[in-house]
Amino acid sequence: MSIFVDVKVLTRNHRESSPYGFCPASKWSIEKLKFTRYRDHLVKDVCCSICKDEIACDSEVREMSCSHVFHDPCIVQWLLIQNTCPLCRLKLPAD
Ligand SMILES: [Zn+2]
Ligand SMILES: [Zn+2]
Repeated sequence: MSIFVDVKVLTRNHRESSPYGFCPASKWSIEKLKFTRYRDHLVKDVCCSICKDEIACDSEVREMSCSHVFHDPCIVQWLLIQNTCPLCRLKLPAD
């Protein structure tokens, strides 16, 4: 078989056994995140680092305890996969 296939298998095995694998945040820690409406005048030109889209004035956002702000659906989906802030890697409690 080709080398390419071997590399793929190796990568997958590595990820499964890695201590740095993805670990979802617990449901209550996601629900506890501050839910707010984004106000443009607080910070200028803010983008959501998950979808790379601008955070428009008055959109529904979640503020992490590190004070990073993301679209509500973006950060909730992100935290269901891994329990760290996409920007500063602050950890939320896992289950
Ligand atoms: Zn987003
Ligand atoms: Zn952060």
